[in-house]
Amino acid sequence: MNGRTLRWLLALARGSALRGRAPRLVVLRHHRVYDDGAAPLDRLGISAAVFRAQLEMLARAGLVPVSVAEGIAHLDRGDPGARVALSFDDGYADNHARALPLLRAAGARATFFLTAGLMERREAPWWDEVADAFERSKAALLVWDGAGATMRLPLAGRADRRRAMAAVLPDFRADLATRARRIGALRAALGVEGPVRCELMGWSDAAALRDAGMEIGAHTMTHPHLTTLAPGDQAAEIADSVALIEQRLGVRPAGFAYPGGDYDARTLDAVRAAGLAYAVTTRAGENRAGSPRLELKRRGLPDGACLGPGGAFAPRLAMAEIAGAFDGMRALRAEAAR
Ligand SMILES: [Zn+2]
Repeated sequence: MNGRTLRWLLALARGSALRGRAPRLVVLRHHRVYDDGAAPLDRLGISAAVFRAQLEMLARAGLVPVSVAEGIAHLDRGDPGARVALSFDDGYADNHARALPLLRAAGARATFFLTAGLMERREAPWWDEVADAFERSKAALLVWDGAGATMRLPLAGRADRRRAMAAVLPDFRADLATRARRIGALRAALGVEGPVRCELMGWSDAAALRDAGMEIGAHTMTHPHLTTLAPGDQAAEIADSVALIEQRLGVRPAGFAYPGGDYDARTLDAVRAAGLAYAVTTRAGENRAGSPRLELKRRGLPDGACLGPGGAFAPRLAMAEIAGAFDGMRALRAEAAR
């Protein structure tokens, strides 16, 4: 029995819901929203159909999603019961094209954490450079001198390429110069050249999200692993992204998302110094009135967490995920490494 089937059976057996009167906040973590049927090599998100089903399920449960700032206000007021807040990391254009119409239709809100510097310069995030190389390579085999050992990774079909990409991804958790050098080496080894299309949104899309009542948060300039940076560079990545968003959109972000969930004590200092009121992590769990505002927990809710063994949307499974029935089982997901 695979993990998905096991979780589905457990959800059917136990049921699960966000019950109880204590003030609580569940923050869901999304990234991309794909066209139904899209099958990218590196899938970092959900289909529009699954997102629509999630919104419908939450509305039926009386949990129409709010922004993270609204959810924190719920905790601060001490209102009874649970709220669900939605968050989208990175700032992909599909958030505007596919998520916004569904959010509007549902009367829901969300927080969008923007990678401001990459948006400004129209540069693709590093993992899209990696995925692009695996998508376009004509090579049949990748010989990769990784951080550990030399790997020989076959590239015959898409399943091979997905496995190969997963095998090399940990090698890019490094400071910016090392990461850039390794990505250059990978693209050379795969025989792929040329620029990679930036699929992040532009500022006019971000302004449309703002105008629709959505919350705009910051997610650094270039999406580094913050703890690999010198303290000054860490502080600049955070403060500059807040300032650039304020300059382009006229609203100063109150919230921040740590790229890849990577942070340390110096990061917390830099977030405070930038005047941010809260920050979200990639640690699974829910938040209470006393939860530290700079280390808020979130829960991922990708396709795989919502679909039953037959591939159809399974509301009881999705609701069990939202209520945290599997927090321990899925403490670390591959997507949290970005
Ligand atoms: Zn991110």
